[in-house]
Amino acid sequence: MSDTAGALPANLAPAEARTPEARVAGAMKGFVQEVGALSAFRLESCIHCGICADACHFYIATEDPQYTPIWKVEPFKQAYKREASPFAPLFKLFGLKRAVTADQLEHWQRLLFDSCNMCGRCSLICPMGIDVAALIEQARHAMFDAGLAPKELYQKAAHQRDTGQPEPSAEPYRDQLLDIGKRFGVDIPLDKPEVEVMLCVPRTDIEHYPSAVAALARVMQHLAVSCTFRSDGLVAENYGYFAGGKEWQREISLRLIEQAIACKAQTLLVPECGHAYTALRWAAAELYGKPLPFKVRHVTEFLADELKSGRLKLEHAGTGKTTFHDPCQLVRKGGVTVAPRALMKAMVIELNELKNHGGFSFCCGGGGGVLDIERAAPLRYRTMENKLREIDDTGAQTFLTSCSDCRRTFDDAQAHFQWDKAPHSLLELVAKHLAGAGTRP
Ligand code: SF4
Ligand code: SF4
Repeated sequence: MSDTAGALPANLAPAEARTPEARVAGAMKGFVQEVGALSAFRLESCIHCGICADACHFYIATEDPQYTPIWKVEPFKQAYKREASPFAPLFKLFGLKRAVTADQLEHWQRLLFDSCNMCGRCSLICPMGIDVAALIEQARHAMFDAGLAPKELYQKAAHQRDTGQPEPSAEPYRDQLLDIGKRFGVDIPLDKPEVEVMLCVPRTDIEHYPSAVAALARVMQHLAVSCTFRSDGLVAENYGYFAGGKEWQREISLRLIEQAIACKAQTLLVPECGHAYTALRWAAAELYGKPLPFKVRHVTEFLADELKSGRLKLEHAGTGKTTFHDPCQLVRKGGVTVAPRALMKAMVIELNELKNHGGFSFCCGGGGGVLDIERAAPLRYRTMENKLREIDDTGAQTFLTSCSDCRRTFDDAQAHFQWDKAPHSLLELVAKHLAGAGTRP
């Protein structure tokens, strides 16, 4: 039978025109391959208590049971029970678990991509210790293998894999980076052959927040850190990770890994980008196949270390009552809660914490690629209302974060809701309040 179909449903990956049967077969094969002993244990351990629902802002905002985190992997649980569990022959024989259908999978595309930020809050709360977010990530891999990644994520991932940047731009990012340096009067170190720290940049900053790019360069210059951006490994984001394309994620990460090795960097510095931190700090070594020969640090961790060593000194910022949004990938995946607070403390910032902050912070709503999926916008806005309310309830005049994608999500919400607050970059604030001259041994 031919493996190609005629008309392609609207939000499916364009290169994957397959029959419905081929899609189902691909997704099931992908998922069963993905399920190792740990995932099987997780799938078997669920006691259906429903507690994870109360952790997920999609469920909290809608009270719709389909947004219960563990339900989002239901077709894959079905596949596991039928195909790979110890009782698979019995499940099949007695029809205890029905075969997954193509319609079911297309519906599930929305649950796995549009209504999951991969924020990990559900994993934190499950009494059985099930890492639901990790199961969702595996289910995304299977969906990608079946050509069921949303087209926006698929296209950006494909472009980034092929060219190094997720979208075409009138001017290559490398040239835009140099222009930003000229515009903001800061030296942009580029393609140096041997450095202590390799820098990369969120494409979100190049396109939306050039002042954040300048801030990164300015802070490094102030601290006299031997560092460089690399033309062939510039972009921090990894759309392969969002789309569920594991091999593409690997290829995208490899660009940065190879460049960091080429310039003999001891540290690969992740800028203000939450998911880049997850992709590089936690996933890259596994995909690379061996330990990375350098450290991966988020810029707030790096600056907090500089602060501790006395090399970084900061002035009072005078931001008035201030609140801070913890990006999920930094706090729940990396435990980076102390570093941003140390920087704020050094600037004598009066921090009014959100009701849910640190490890329990709610996602901005745009994480996991959700911000890029056009049709997901109405649900995303609904989900964000709770977060915006929490921010308003602090009574803060200044609102900070340390992830550009979170910042863009809040900026978008500001326009949508005519909200009276604008998110600011913690890194930019640091760059504005550098004190004394930086020295290095
Ligand atoms: S909280 Fe854990 S055990 Fe309870 S339903 Fe969710 S995944 Fe299952
Ligand atoms: S990872 Fe976050 S958004 Fe996704 S199901 Fe869990 S709590 Fe909800």
